[in-house]
Amino acid sequence: MLTRFPQGARIGVLTTEPVGLLDYLAPEGGVVLGQLVIVPLGPRRVMGAVWGEGQGEFDAARLRPVAGLVDAAPLTPGMVEFLGRAAEYTLTPLPVMLRMALRAPDLDRPAAERRLVHLAGPAPARMTEARGAVLRVIADHGGAGFAPSELAQLAGVGLSVVRGLVAAGTLVETAAPVDLPFPRLDPARPGKPLAPDQAAAADALRAGIRGGAYGTTLLRGVTGSGKTEVYLEAVAECLRQGRQALVLLPEIALSAEFLTRVEARFGARPGEWHSGITRTERRRLWHMAGRGEVGMVVGARSALFLPFRDLGLIVVDEEHDGSYKQDETVYYNARDMAVLRASIEGAQVVLASATPSVESWVNVAAGKYGRLDLRSRYGEAELPQMGTIDLRAEDMPSGRWISPTLAGAVDQRLGRGEQSLLFLNRRGYAPITTCRACGHQVGCDDCDARMVEHRFLKRLVCHQCGASKPVPTACPACGVEGKMAAVGPGVERLGEEVAERFPGARAVVLSSDLFTSARAIKDTIASIAGGGADIIIGTQLVAKGHNFPLLTLVGVIDADLGLQGADLRAAERSFQLMRQVAGRAGRFAQAGAGDQRGLALLQTHQPDHPVIRAILSGEDERFWDAEAGARRAAQMPPFSRLAGIILSHPDQAVVEAHAAALSRLAAPLREIGAELFGPAPAPIARVRGRYRMRMLVRAPRQAPVQSAIAAWLAGAPRAPANLRLSVDIDPQSF
Ligand code: ADP
Ligand code: ZN
Repeated sequence: MLTRFPQGARIGVLTTEPVGLLDYLAPEGGVVLGQLVIVPLGPRRVMGAVWGEGQGEFDAARLRPVAGLVDAAPLTPGMVEFLGRAAEYTLTPLPVMLRMALRAPDLDRPAAERRLVHLAGPAPARMTEARGAVLRVIADHGGAGFAPSELAQLAGVGLSVVRGLVAAGTLVETAAPVDLPFPRLDPARPGKPLAPDQAAAADALRAGIRGGAYGTTLLRGVTGSGKTEVYLEAVAECLRQGRQALVLLPEIALSAEFLTRVEARFGARPGEWHSGITRTERRRLWHMAGRGEVGMVVGARSALFLPFRDLGLIVVDEEHDGSYKQDETVYYNARDMAVLRASIEGAQVVLASATPSVESWVNVAAGKYGRLDLRSRYGEAELPQMGTIDLRAEDMPSGRWISPTLAGAVDQRLGRGEQSLLFLNRRGYAPITTCRACGHQVGCDDCDARMVEHRFLKRLVCHQCGASKPVPTACPACGVEGKMAAVGPGVERLGEEVAERFPGARAVVLSSDLFTSARAIKDTIASIAGGGADIIIGTQLVAKGHNFPLLTLVGVIDADLGLQGADLRAAERSFQLMRQVAGRAGRFAQAGAGDQRGLALLQTHQPDHPVIRAILSGEDERFWDAEAGARRAAQMPPFSRLAGIILSHPDQAVVEAHAAALSRLAAPLREIGAELFGPAPAPIARVRGRYRMRMLVRAPRQAPVQSAIAAWLAGAPRAPANLRLSVDIDPQSF
């Protein structure tokens, strides 16, 4: 039921400007709630959404009418409510939230003004390299049309090349909107016959979707147990009900394999939403989501803010993944926002993971989420065998990180034509560049962070701000020449060691820095899967969801890397990462082929560490129970609520003074039983030349922490110019 406001009615319009909600008069023909409109604001025209009745602050006589309607489906009442509640939860100003939801290009321009080119005729008689580049871009992005300038830019050619292809009849230019519906996915096509535990899980999810009400289910099972196959059945049911399904994936740009799988299952590709799509594709998907003309969307976390018309299912794959947390502009965790949105839409949420977050685990234990387990790997493939290599007992020359035991295991794989993966979660060549004369370590000029050497780029790079500088030959501190040394390993350096130690082997280093595009990474991954490498050296880029059928050995170079640190989440994160990496081994090992079972070896100095032992024993539930117990004992999330307040300013004294002033006004926090820790220098105390102070608010689980923080900050003294303050509800690290 749509709330309609007749012409002349006083309505509240949420603008995308900082002023937020303002009253206007409904235009001729009236408007509905959620309609996107153009309104006058002073001398300007700005975009907004009809948000409800007017607030009545002004005389009706002084109100101005809405200037025009945006040619887009109105936001649904569910979407309006979702944005409001997400803003409240994350303490984000409503206009900022709305702007995040209106992430379609050219929303305020009528579709007919835009001219687009599509592939129409055969390849031109005269092929050139530039023409080939244009056609490749079109092939890569199959389907949607392009604005001519966008196409030229993506292909790296001049506009005249595109024009030439139009003249040759290969491309056709139209004035018609590109806003074509997506091909329908066919849920009636049969899926794979399911194993009994898969079938039971699929039945339960289907029943939930048919019920038409909200519910969240944790779908647990090791990598390769067939979770994807199961949740695609849930997608099929959702499509049969005529509702839309959203699947969120981490590292979406890399999920070519997933898209192919969906196409094989449903006969058409889903809509894609991530940073790698073009403006035209973005526009098309946004509009089609709103009109209900795309059945299934696969996306990165921000796909959650698409204006779906009728969302019936949200799958959050690898729900524990850190990339679901956005740590800029709007601080939100897509997993939690998925649950919020589904509860408003009457939709089902499926959280899929081999290593759920402690939060989800506790929600299952409390009965808030359901739980479905897939107990074995699909088919015959077995879990890898696990072992540690005690580095204290290995003969490790300095500057070497592959132990003799691990090297021996790699040699065996090489002899059998199988692949090995050496995992090290450190980008670059070496984490530290130090002077052997004075001990100085090269840091970033603008951040409180060491510079990391990237030999491939021939530079030192700051991983905080991206600044880089040449590797100095003389020490910047003492001036001595020729004493600068790289200390510690990064993946690039490990690549060198591999080349020396295994001279005949084909090795590939897989790290985001070594690739210029998501496409290049995809191509490399496909080539590895096809057997194009013997040894893969990788960062966490390789930990996620790729299938390497020939891979039977995983060596974790430094299993201790994530175990240290004051962060209470360190154990959980290390556990998840190492489980996931180990799971790459022998994922598809052929049954019955003798010694083909995968092997994962963890190099460590502390083989008795509880996390290492939990990974070896495979007793995951004991690990989670222990983690949950430790969090409960420390009264940390999810047994309490946390919020991080970060203040930053170029002048250290200014930010310290303001933080101290704020901390003295914390009465509204005490009223709800919350405690305030800090202010103290933030974990990275200076970034991009700004000094950062952090305060942590810890509140009892059920306390209204957002409104207390809002009241606290509202009473703050006027902020000095250039001071930035951000609130991060449920911070990732604490
Ligand atoms: P997960 O999502 O748990 O990692 P997948 O669903 O990707 O597991 O399944 C692992 C592999 O096993 C995939 O190649 C998938 O196609 C295959 N597989 C899973 N279930 C079945 C099934 N019922 N029949 C045939 N193949 C299956
Ligand atoms: Zn920096």
